[in-house]
Amino acid sequence: MSSTLITNIGQLVTNDPDLGTLTNAALIYTDGKISWAGAKSSAPSADERIDADGGSVIPGFVDSHTHAIFAGDRLNDFLARMNGTKYASGGIKTTVEATRAASDESLRNHLENVVTEFIEHGITTFEIKSGYGLDVETESRLLRLAKEFTEETTFLGAHVIPSEFANDRRGYIDLVKGSMLEAAAPFAKWIDVFCDNGAFTRDEAKEILTAGVAKGLRGRLHGNQLGDTGGIELAVEMKLASVDHCTYATDSQLDLLAASGTVATLLPGAEFSTRSPYPDASRFFEKGVKVAIATDFNPGSSYIASMPFVISIAVRDMYFTPEQALRAATLGGAQALGRSDIGHLGIGARADIVLLEAPSFEYLAYRPGSQLVKQVLVGNL
Ligand SMILES: [Zn+2]
Repeated sequence: MSSTLITNIGQLVTNDPDLGTLTNAALIYTDGKISWAGAKSSAPSADERIDADGGSVIPGFVDSHTHAIFAGDRLNDFLARMNGTKYASGGIKTTVEATRAASDESLRNHLENVVTEFIEHGITTFEIKSGYGLDVETESRLLRLAKEFTEETTFLGAHVIPSEFANDRRGYIDLVKGSMLEAAAPFAKWIDVFCDNGAFTRDEAKEILTAGVAKGLRGRLHGNQLGDTGGIELAVEMKLASVDHCTYATDSQLDLLAASGTVATLLPGAEFSTRSPYPDASRFFEKGVKVAIATDFNPGSSYIASMPFVISIAVRDMYFTPEQALRAATLGGAQALGRSDIGHLGIGARADIVLLEAPSFEYLAYRPGSQLVKQVLVGNL
């Protein structure tokens, strides 16, 4: 047994209904799990001691939506977009070509750098999707490599129709449901479909998700990013853990979400990076929808590895309060992944802890672009 005391905490955000947010606090974790939290003056002793120096301490961020495994970049897409040219240069196809051609070693090295960046920004749990292979071999290869870094791996063979199937939509859907799913399933926990304009229809998404669920995977969905395409209704109907983007959501769809257990995962980095209109998160909270935010880390539409930066966009442009944004980036992400052991610092939770160089968590929104993450502790490392 080894215990560590974090003391001199100016503000401790636990996300635990009983503990709440404490000032002048201390926290103890033992063998990777939270074992005590309370006033610093009454803290028991422990083997090790960390001084928070009056700073704020929060749960590690849970990034429930990333496309972190790929090769190459999409700088030309970005430049074209910033110059006012439509999303017309290479697109996802560029990344698919580079990823198929990359060796395991180069993909692994690249992902390792991304993961280091995630952790430096306080992300202690991250999901990783496939979706840049779009053939049987590469999709399973991406998931096998991603699984070396996280247990939250997602099969996204249904990202877009690859160019070689441009005239055989049915053939590609059958491949995804068949041999691609077969090869991917041993390395995946989740299955996802990009259900939107220019990607897969609601009926196609249902067919693919149903096949994945029959294979033992759990479902999540990209929906309502580019239009009202039925993704939210499908996610609720299939009781999926999360429907992601929800940029276009009507009041009645928010009612459906609120009545279901499905989390709405908003992705501020996508609207930010593509100069698209932001959804108004206050509508979601007024309806009582469970909300998460995630980085959507990917080379095309959100090359952002910083959850604090995403929080600052969520607050400034999507009308989250700083408290709602922090909860969405921690507890919300955990709910979107169906996890109760992370996203909070209640007794027994995994000791995923972020120490901030700031007196309160609101500084995450107040000081965009500054590195306020001072130290990151990950309970399972
Ligand atoms: Zn995505």
